[in-house]
Amino acid sequence: MKQRVCILGSTGSIGRQALEVIRLNRDLFEVVAISATGRNQRLLALQVEEFQPEVVATLLNAELPEGPRRITGENANERLIQEVDADIYLIALSGTSGIMPSYLAAKTGRRIALANKESLVAAGRFITERASLFGSEIIPVDSEHSAIFQCLLGQDTPKVKRIILTASGGPFLRRPLNELERVSPQEALEHPLWSMGPKITVDSATMMNKGLEVIEARWLFNLPGEKISVVVHPQGVIHSMVEFEDGAVLAQMGSADMKIPISFALGFPFRIESGASPLELTSGSPLTFEDPDPQRFPLLKLAYEALEEETTLPVILNTANEVAVEAFLSGRLPFTGIAEVVKRTMDVLSARRVESMEDVMALHLEAQKVAKEMLNEAV
Ligand code: NDP
Ligand code: MG
Repeated sequence: MKQRVCILGSTGSIGRQALEVIRLNRDLFEVVAISATGRNQRLLALQVEEFQPEVVATLLNAELPEGPRRITGENANERLIQEVDADIYLIALSGTSGIMPSYLAAKTGRRIALANKESLVAAGRFITERASLFGSEIIPVDSEHSAIFQCLLGQDTPKVKRIILTASGGPFLRRPLNELERVSPQEALEHPLWSMGPKITVDSATMMNKGLEVIEARWLFNLPGEKISVVVHPQGVIHSMVEFEDGAVLAQMGSADMKIPISFALGFPFRIESGASPLELTSGSPLTFEDPDPQRFPLLKLAYEALEEETTLPVILNTANEVAVEAFLSGRLPFTGIAEVVKRTMDVLSARRVESMEDVMALHLEAQKVAKEMLNEAV
């Protein structure tokens, strides 16, 4: 029996690579539904022709080949999850648009192959509680979390001393600090190792991506912040590590290719063909490690601070960051203004309380408004 796969965000970097993996494993998977905004009509149309899904969901009214049932409108992703019965929901939407779909997928009792880290950052408690209540398994797609998941297989989790997330350091690891204010969106979008969507690429340059991943790890592996550390490893050969209480450290290595964690999340517990190029150990060597510089990457520290409080501050951190990254990409905010906007929005809204999913979404909207106001002050 083929696994029925529903891909949310099929036209994005993760979505396209997931379809590449499925193309190599036609005997194992069937694409039953895909979604996108509808902006990239051409690519979506090609995907519909090739994979013949039963359902296509778009926010906009895109012109697509006849055949699949259409879901259109602002809540298209949410409706897709509620109306399509799949074995695997791959959530590859970018940013906060993934929060509600991940929460809804947690109720299906099926597998969630989760790429969208923002949903766990903003609503990790509610999504993981609901997933365990309804028996939905969350398999991480994020390469660091996939690495940790793999290192933990067959291990006794309480004997974990800490997990170590590796970070490439992004394009500005060696850039003189006084030049950071003037770096352009184009420069920030040139990641040395990975080719990804624009939002996560900027997050990698500020290292907010690692901050979000620390919070993501807290919910995926149920570990407190002090057991989650970050090390800069520019070669990107080790995707993350787990240190156990006896002193042993397990690492997962591989080429910097998201098709490896994507294929793992789709195929688990089996390893399937991924199409990734093999790891060239000698060309990646020597492997180096260093501590992240807090002055260069202030957002990483802010993420740890947010995590201490667990529910309110991560929502604000995540939303304010999204607003600020968008402003940076459209030339309305300097690179160094991103951290400023996030910090100030957290200061303004820190007294709110988040006790339910409704609270998460309400605070998200409020943080969006406040962060947008902050933009004018930060320029
Ligand atoms: P992209 O920007 O490349 O793709 C996002 C996808 O989601 C596109 O299909 C896009 O549609 C769709 N989308 C965006 N916004 C909306 C919305 N509001 N409603 C509906 N659909 C929407 O992102 P990535 O693939 O890079 O990243 C996806 C997620 O995976 C992110 O959370 C990221 O952090 C995470 N991730 C990504 C990695 C990577 O290598 N790319 C690595 C690890 C994690 P359209 O094309 O029509 O705009
Ligand atoms: Mg990652």
